[in-house]
Amino acid sequence: SAADEATQDLIARRNRLLGPAYRLFYEQPVQFVRGEGVWLYDASGHRYLDAYNNVASVGHCHPHVVQAIARQAGVLNTHTRYLHETVLDFAERLLATFPHQIGHVMFTCTGSEANDLALRVARTCTGGTGFIVTANAYHGVTSALTELSPSLGLPLPQGSHARLIPAPGSGENATEIFAGHVSAALEDMKRSGIRPAALLVDTIFSSDGVFADPPGFLRPAVEATRAAGALFIADEVQPGFGRCGEGMWGFARHGLVPDLVTMGKPMGNGHPVAGMAARPELLAEFGRRSRYFNTFGGNPVSASAGIAVLDVIAAEGLVENARDTGAYLIKLIKGLQARHPLIAGVRGSGLFVGVELRSGGPNGTPATAEATRIVNLLRERRVLISSAGPHGNVLKIRPPLVFGTEHADMLIQRLDQALAELEVMSEQ
Ligand code: PMP
Repeated sequence: SAADEATQDLIARRNRLLGPAYRLFYEQPVQFVRGEGVWLYDASGHRYLDAYNNVASVGHCHPHVVQAIARQAGVLNTHTRYLHETVLDFAERLLATFPHQIGHVMFTCTGSEANDLALRVARTCTGGTGFIVTANAYHGVTSALTELSPSLGLPLPQGSHARLIPAPGSGENATEIFAGHVSAALEDMKRSGIRPAALLVDTIFSSDGVFADPPGFLRPAVEATRAAGALFIADEVQPGFGRCGEGMWGFARHGLVPDLVTMGKPMGNGHPVAGMAARPELLAEFGRRSRYFNTFGGNPVSASAGIAVLDVIAAEGLVENARDTGAYLIKLIKGLQARHPLIAGVRGSGLFVGVELRSGGPNGTPATAEATRIVNLLRERRVLISSAGPHGNVLKIRPPLVFGTEHADMLIQRLDQALAELEVMSEQ
């Protein structure tokens, strides 16, 4: 069709102009031209249910956020070396969402910059160079962070001070096992003469395949980290801003107060604003020994976007919606398990859900190809999800937080159809 041809032209143009390092989603990539709430519209006007985008977290093009950005852009936007009250208003509003031990926030444009700054603070304050991350983690694009992002599949440089540990499991003794892996990594550093700087984890373990339970399982691991003189950095880029349905932050489910917290994606609902929150005693030390300047990070327009996002989360009860709709969605997916044995497990918290697919029962082989098929079959049915985990066999469902039960019903109906279609295909 003409639409297909237009898509092929865009793909060719993109490859010609942007080069070969990028990847597009889907066997048939899709072009969106407009968004609203949980919906994305393609060039032909077809509507897709977005069950994947955590950036437009309070809904695509939320009018309150759009107006806040436009209003401030029409008044003033500058670099960050002048006084500006809105930036401080945002800092105040944001810090109020944290436990009292977290007293400062520094603004950046991306989650990568926030994590990179956290690495610098951790190195400066501990004198250490060793970092512990999970085996399929993703933490960002800088050279320092690609070394701590094994999900990219790049080899660790020789003599690297990074230590990779297995992702938390979903078994009975997940807490003890995870703490054991952290302790072993700390021991290994000691033997190698490496002083540890920090344990850096995404508190919902998104790229590792979504591991949420039992709440509190991170605590013994963090205690071991601190006993070795290192810090705990909570990467809240994915779980933060209410997505997990229990308060604003993923670490809160673990009954923990991190030393450093990094955040990004949902923070400006698509506007690039990110940051690092910290215990003041750490920044006192960092400020004595170092300096930080970020041209765009936390400029007046970004701060206005951030404030507007916090407004919407509160006004629309989105943390509660994440909790309730998330629980409803997980219940429905568990209901599908009886009819579709490919579903080996359902995990998550709030509107962050992982559905593990395995052939041959819960302990069978990872159903990697099947997960890819399901993602593409759902795209054909105009529902957007993706997959995660080291084998890519965990369906990742992570919709905007304005996702309601009617949207969950629609997702389940299409997922049910896609699984049935896959089963028919594999019987042929
Ligand atoms: N941390 C996590 C857990 C992420 O998922 C990402 C982005 N996928 C980042 C950090 C990096 O954020 P950004 O892309 O904004 O640099």
